[in-house]
Amino acid sequence: MAKDLPNLVIPNELKPKDARFGSGPSKIRVTQLAALVAANPGYLGTSHRQKTVRDVVKNLREGLTNLFQLPDGYEVIIGNGGTTAFWDAAIFGLIKENAQFLSFGEFTNKFATAAKNAPFLKNIDIIKAEPGDAPEFVPNEIFDAYATAHNETSTAVMQRVKRPNAKGLHLVDATSAAGGALVDPKEFDVYYFAPQKSFGSDGGFFTALLSPDAIARIEEIKETDRWQPPFLDLSIALENSRLQQTYNTPALATIHMFENQVAWFNEQGGLA
Ligand SMILES: *Cc1c(COP(=O)(O)O)cnc(C)c1O
Repeated sequence: MAKDLPNLVIPNELKPKDARFGSGPSKIRVTQLAALVAANPGYLGTSHRQKTVRDVVKNLREGLTNLFQLPDGYEVIIGNGGTTAFWDAAIFGLIKENAQFLSFGEFTNKFATAAKNAPFLKNIDIIKAEPGDAPEFVPNEIFDAYATAHNETSTAVMQRVKRPNAKGLHLVDATSAAGGALVDPKEFDVYYFAPQKSFGSDGGFFTALLSPDAIARIEEIKETDRWQPPFLDLSIALENSRLQQTYNTPALATIHMFENQVAWFNEQGGLA
């Protein structure tokens, strides 16, 4: 220990009773887990195309529409792979050629770097800030997308979700913010997250709230000759989500706990 530092001792009563990484995987409520156990006959161990599962997916998608007060024309899409997989899907299916990224910590940097390395994208502009600070977009008409995070978990920097003053899509990583922070859906085109944080579920599953412009972009890119791996193809995710299912087999326990948490939030007045 450096000799100038006082010998600080944190009193026991100030220490958390259950110390965990605050913005990471969160506690799972006892009733949330009990609901999963109660649903077991007919739910766990069945195909994800069964009605029992589709009903939960439908409730989940409607619950999220309600929680985020999505305007008409917005849609909730789901798929496997978590936020990190969604970054790759967004690179394939949401960015046309040129995009600007705010990079102010580990997560925002990972997405920006992945886009920078995509051989079919042209100009990927990355604006960085020192840890603890956040940069701002510098709009330019060449950009067809702008990417940032609502909460950059690695530095605890939270930004208000506000569109850049430009016409590109606004893509917002909300993995550690969604469900825990207010957001106006008119300020984003894509608000994406995974359920292991505020939603007290498990990971490996992505959710994205899409504006009509984002849906139009997915359809527009699909019409081009860009090759997209089917697993990361957002037009396929959109098509399956509308049928209350995922492209391939999801973790059913994750979906159930996620739906239960969204319903619990809504019962208590939603985000507000
Ligand atoms: C946790 C986190 C991620 C990573 O999520 P995965 O589901 O593990 O891919 C991405 N972005 C932010 C802001 C996060 O907090």
